[in-house]
Amino acid sequence: MSLRANNYYKATSLDDAYQKLKDNPKNAIIAGGLWMKKTGLSYETLIDLSELHLNEIKVNKDEIHVGALVTLRDFETNPEIKKLNGGATSFGVSEVVGPAFRNTATIGGSIFGRFPFSDVIASLLPLDVTVKLYPEQSYSLEEFLNIKGKVDGILTEIVIKKEEGKGYFHKVKATSLDFAMVNISISKRNNKHYIAVGSRPLVASLARKAMIEADKGDFKEAARLAAEELSYLDSNNISKAYRQDLVKVYVLRGLEEVNK
Ligand SMILES: Cc1cc2nc3c(=O)[nH]c(=O)nc-3n(C[C@H](O)[C@H](O)[C@H](O)COP(=O)(O)OP(=O)(O)OC[C@H]3O[C@@H](n4cnc5c(N)ncnc54)[C@H](O)[C@@H]3O)c2cc1C
Repeated sequence: MSLRANNYYKATSLDDAYQKLKDNPKNAIIAGGLWMKKTGLSYETLIDLSELHLNEIKVNKDEIHVGALVTLRDFETNPEIKKLNGGATSFGVSEVVGPAFRNTATIGGSIFGRFPFSDVIASLLPLDVTVKLYPEQSYSLEEFLNIKGKVDGILTEIVIKKEEGKGYFHKVKATSLDFAMVNISISKRNNKHYIAVGSRPLVASLARKAMIEADKGDFKEAARLAAEELSYLDSNNISKAYRQDLVKVYVLRGLEEVNK
């Protein structure tokens, strides 16, 4: 597939980019452009944010601010990101295709796309993550994923709360470059468990009943609930029932791992 557009526009400010975006429903923000290329859609104007300093990771005492244009590779190799969640967040993102691909794909494009198979979203969902948009809007990642319909705005950054914790990420895939058949991502922080399951084939969600059971210490029951409480579907390479079996196994393994 190829990426087709009549114009390419370098925005001079976020407001400039947003005005251009609103000008025509066939205008779109371009980040890494990889997904846009794959879908083969054509656009009137592609809006480039590369002059707006959105490719930086800034760290303060309590938070990590990750600009929308930070590449997956810069994200996963950043020393502060590597410390998060016992390394599981960095590892989860490193499971996306290969390093050359991750040098182009961005955090903003990955989150804004709300892709059901996303390892990036699954890796981040068990953490305390805020999604920031222009014009001024702020959502938890979970809220952002639940917005119905098209999101109006430009994703500017995500803010990750720095917390000590242990983590686990597992992507079940047929070959190393494939999309996940299911991905399981767990964090234990402040003595609480957070369990996300993605690629069901629906976008990652937190398994809230399973999290309560895990906090009580019944990991087998938590794994059973994670496989029950979320929606699972058949797809051409994996059945719903097999997905649920995989979730039961890997949630249990993950909970044992973060409690070692
Ligand atoms: C062949 C292929 C295989 C893949 N495999 C995996 C995988 O195994 N695991 C995984 O997690 N991901 C996978 N991905 C997804 C990939 O990791 C990226 O998430 C995806 O390419 C989007 O990132 P991008 O920077 O290329 O965004 P783009 O393609 O540039 O943009 C994606 C969408 O988001 C919009 N957008 C981008 N940035 C912003 C912004 N800042 N504000 C508002 N809108 C914005 C664009 O208009 C577009 O609609 C795959 C993608 C491809 C093409």
